[in-house]
Amino acid sequence: MSHKSPYQIDIPHCNVLTYLYPEGQIVSDKQIWIDAEDERKALSPRQMLSWVRRLGFGLERLGVRKGEVVMIYTPNHIFVPAAYQGIVGSGRIFSGANPVYTLTEMEYQIKNTETTVILAHPSLVETAVEAARRVGLAKNRIFQFSDEPCAPLDGVVDWRKMIGSESEGENWHWDDMTSTAGQTIATINYSSGTTGLPKGVCVSHFNLVANCEQTIYIRDQETSYSPQSRPEERWIGFLPLYHAYGKFLRVNVSNANNDAGQMYANIMAQKLGNPMYIMQKFVFEKFLSVIQNRRITHLQVAPPILIMLDKRPETSNYDLSSVRNILCGAAPLSKELQNSIQRRFKLNVVQGWGMTESTCSAMHVPGGRYDDSGSVGLLNPNTECKLIGDDGQVVPPGEPGEMHVRGPQICLGYWRKEEATRESLDSDGWLKTGDVAIVRGDMFWIVDRKKELIKVNALQVAPAELEAVLLENSDIEDAGVVGITLDEQEWPRAYVQLKAQKKEAVSEEDIQEYMRGRVAKHKLLVGGVKFVNVVPRLASGKLERKVIRQWSKQDAIAL
Ligand code: AMP
Repeated sequence: MSHKSPYQIDIPHCNVLTYLYPEGQIVSDKQIWIDAEDERKALSPRQMLSWVRRLGFGLERLGVRKGEVVMIYTPNHIFVPAAYQGIVGSGRIFSGANPVYTLTEMEYQIKNTETTVILAHPSLVETAVEAARRVGLAKNRIFQFSDEPCAPLDGVVDWRKMIGSESEGENWHWDDMTSTAGQTIATINYSSGTTGLPKGVCVSHFNLVANCEQTIYIRDQETSYSPQSRPEERWIGFLPLYHAYGKFLRVNVSNANNDAGQMYANIMAQKLGNPMYIMQKFVFEKFLSVIQNRRITHLQVAPPILIMLDKRPETSNYDLSSVRNILCGAAPLSKELQNSIQRRFKLNVVQGWGMTESTCSAMHVPGGRYDDSGSVGLLNPNTECKLIGDDGQVVPPGEPGEMHVRGPQICLGYWRKEEATRESLDSDGWLKTGDVAIVRGDMFWIVDRKKELIKVNALQVAPAELEAVLLENSDIEDAGVVGITLDEQEWPRAYVQLKAQKKEAVSEEDIQEYMRGRVAKHKLLVGGVKFVNVVPRLASGKLERKVIRQWSKQDAIAL
């Protein structure tokens, strides 16, 4: 038996642009995208639409066909949403690259998505050019992309040179996609899913519109206001705008992948008409001062930010009384932390649960409900969930089981990976999540994670990727990577079997040094390296991850 959402809503089938700029409705002049450091840099939907149209025209003139992938590689700035909308709305596919990626990681994503155009921030042009050269993408397909016009750099010109003029933009039109929104890919976001290397998750226009409508609906539930009387909110955008809500926060690092952040920031803020103060990068004290000075009312965060708010002394130097509600997602949040924040700041901390594969969210605590139990909420409108036991059957009531989720926000599958798609998404549309939950009434609690995935400050780290890098080291015979949880935070930890002749010669620091520069910072083995005699494998060669996880649990107690 499946659990069904208590809510059913109508969801339009259309292009994201048709959703954001419905025909016949006046496009607002209210400034929505505001640079948190410099308020003179701001865009209203009307201004945004002009850039969107110009980019739509420019991509056509450049000869970029519909269905081709355009990559954005930049820290946050106010033009990112405009470029996102122009790429997606014109029928091209958006792919966001993490500015902290190494050259090899960039090369992987360009090659994997078959990117044909890159919009790269001036600070990242050098890496973009080299990564493009390695995969054979012509330099004239790379454009500088920042919030200010840029002089050519290494032969790479500003994106303003590629896009059309205002009048060319005005004559450009998008396809409403009334019959194709469900099959047209809007974005490819990266996730390792339940196993293996990161894969491109294909999210359609309908997925995006559906997830946005679901979230807007559920936020209003059990509140005293109607959509017409909703009080104005002010948001802070420190989530990377290029990727979903899931993968942005690193304790001391600014940007990272965030597919849902992109959905949240890009579409929701505009749809709700909420100003979004965009921070180029996350610096804790700046974050606090923007909240104080801009009177931010709502925060969308992952648990590491709550840990910082709770524990760091700087928090008490700022007046955060404007904040009314905190939505937390992307990684486990303990009810102790939830309640500590609720008591201290006298506000609601509610959770949402989602995956890159569910566009952004599939569960959410209703906006007006006070939760102190650590629940991830109830099912979004039009969404169902089955809890499946180890025997493949639905578990008896009250028992934990792996969540299988179905709904209009569930992605189309993995980009050019049919087998991986079939393994995660069955022919009836059920997505295997790898998360284990229990349900009471209509509310869910996540109690375990069955899949390989490690979440480092809410960012995805795929053990398979780190294992592959370790195995390229000529001193290493075998390696297994799992997560270790220390002080409520998860980190990658490697169990390494050295080659017999290297046993005395290699130290943990040598392995840590080897990883630096080969993987982005958040993938470093902060959870430590432990040398073992043998990395346990089954006769088939498959890692016995259960055993290694057990080691890590024991080590966590000892450390
Ligand atoms: P991502 O695809 O990067 O968004 O990661 C999705 C995974 O993050 C989920 O499958 C969960 O393991 C974890 N996750 C997301 N939200 C929550 C939450 N509220 N509580 C616990 N884990 C979560």
